[in-house]
Amino acid sequence: MKEIGHWINGKMVAGKSGRSADVFNPATGDVQAHVALASKAELDSAVADAAVAQVKWGATNPQKRARVMMEFVRLINRDMDKLAEALSAEHGKTFPDAKGDVQRGLEVIEFCVGAPHLLKGEFTDAAGPGIDMYSMRQPLGVVAGITPFNFPAMIPLWKMGPALACGNAFILKPSERDPSVPLMLAQLLQEAGLPDGVLQVVNGDKESVDAILDNETVQAIGFVGSTPIAQYIYGRGCANGKRVQCFGGAKNHMIIMPDADMDQAADALIGAGFGAAGERCMAISVAVPVGDATADALIEKLVPRIEKLKVGPWTAGNDVDYGPLVTGAALERVKGLITSGVDQGAKLVCDGRDFKLQGYENGFFVGPTLFDNVTTDMEIYKQEIFGPVLSTLRAKTYEEAIGYAIDNEYGNGTAIFTRDGDTARDFAARINIGMIGINVPIPVPLAYHTFGGWKKSGFGDLNQHGPDSFRFYTRTKTVTARWPSGIKEGSAFNFKAMD
Ligand code: NAD
Repeated sequence: MKEIGHWINGKMVAGKSGRSADVFNPATGDVQAHVALASKAELDSAVADAAVAQVKWGATNPQKRARVMMEFVRLINRDMDKLAEALSAEHGKTFPDAKGDVQRGLEVIEFCVGAPHLLKGEFTDAAGPGIDMYSMRQPLGVVAGITPFNFPAMIPLWKMGPALACGNAFILKPSERDPSVPLMLAQLLQEAGLPDGVLQVVNGDKESVDAILDNETVQAIGFVGSTPIAQYIYGRGCANGKRVQCFGGAKNHMIIMPDADMDQAADALIGAGFGAAGERCMAISVAVPVGDATADALIEKLVPRIEKLKVGPWTAGNDVDYGPLVTGAALERVKGLITSGVDQGAKLVCDGRDFKLQGYENGFFVGPTLFDNVTTDMEIYKQEIFGPVLSTLRAKTYEEAIGYAIDNEYGNGTAIFTRDGDTARDFAARINIGMIGINVPIPVPLAYHTFGGWKKSGFGDLNQHGPDSFRFYTRTKTVTARWPSGIKEGSAFNFKAMD
């Protein structure tokens, strides 16, 4: 059995805790590897070594750090297929989707090549007589990232890129479900010129996460995962005096107005609802058609499209639309939620519970599932399903439809499909959600904008990637300087306005 360890001080090392977790092949249900789960002592030792390595890295000029990022971009492109294959093999998503996962992370590394510009401070010449004032952006020291299973390349890259480009050392605690790609990325960064110890990849579970939260050297934590864990990490990390940003779960609504192009809306819902088996924080899980005629027309367009979807293992070729869920536990949970929807009175239009694929009978597959007549008190509406399940929540008016999205506890993404500019504008202005699509079902901002949800989808003050990430991973220091020629008086005992 393959044993997966940690990346410490520029080398792959075996775990010492004696604890490990199974890594599955989601398409077959087989265990394909064991991943070591680090102890508190292993985590603390990785942090201590990172703190030593950070001193030199933080003092390296930003242009040299940017050149490491530039070379990292080249190496990720060189190894794109290798990375995507390893990603599909552990996560289960299709090969083109795995390449997209790497690509969306790579774009943030491209953005980080601009670090020298992004790290420039501010300067005021002659703020007073002979007085200059300037602000610098300095690295925080050792910072950490804790990442989810569903984007094992993209989210580690979103975290490590800006953190390292700013001059920090970075401790990555990836998901224990698909740990191989983060380790491959660490090797590429070493090849790109990153000094050993500046990036440590520590595999683990709650024990290593708690060790990060309580380690006094760790200055900041970026987390992405489910909302209960996001809240826990935000609370404990902040209580320990760290800078913390945590991005959580989602329940993304797409409103379909009567004037929308119904074919476009149906195509969009199929990709956004079922792509990656619904295991995306930006997946659309609730369709909200306005008016019964719109709802009926939409369902009529969705059903034949759903019947044509091809579900299978990533090895079956690029025309597979989506693959299995990540674990058997996820499979049982999603099937249980579908059953609860039936029990609570939703109309099951397409049922994916009995989906079976010859030769992959033990794989974690769920067929595409569509519900109609869902109401807000049902579990399938209240919970983030994180599976290929689309719920239809009928609304009589636009006000009722926008109200559902506004009242929902999550606020990651949302979309509206309409031809009416006034409605779209009103929607974007009033909605209390972080990322909005207008005739775009999955509005993931590009690397040079920022990504982040509101309400229970995001905790903390700054977003991920884009300029916010450079603010998150640096701290501002402001210097007021006066030289002897500007000093005209003796001691001052009160605050004075600048002359
Ligand atoms: P998860 O919360 O189970 O795990 C995320 C990380 O937290 C992992 O590294 C895991 O090891 C760690 N963890 C798990 N349980 C823990 C505990 N009890 N104590 C401390 N650490 C713990 O999430 P997941 O299942 O890996 O990922 C799916 C979730 O992530 C979904 O809810 C999805 O919406 C969310 N997500 C959000 C975004 C976003 O940007 N908002 C992006 C991707 C995924």
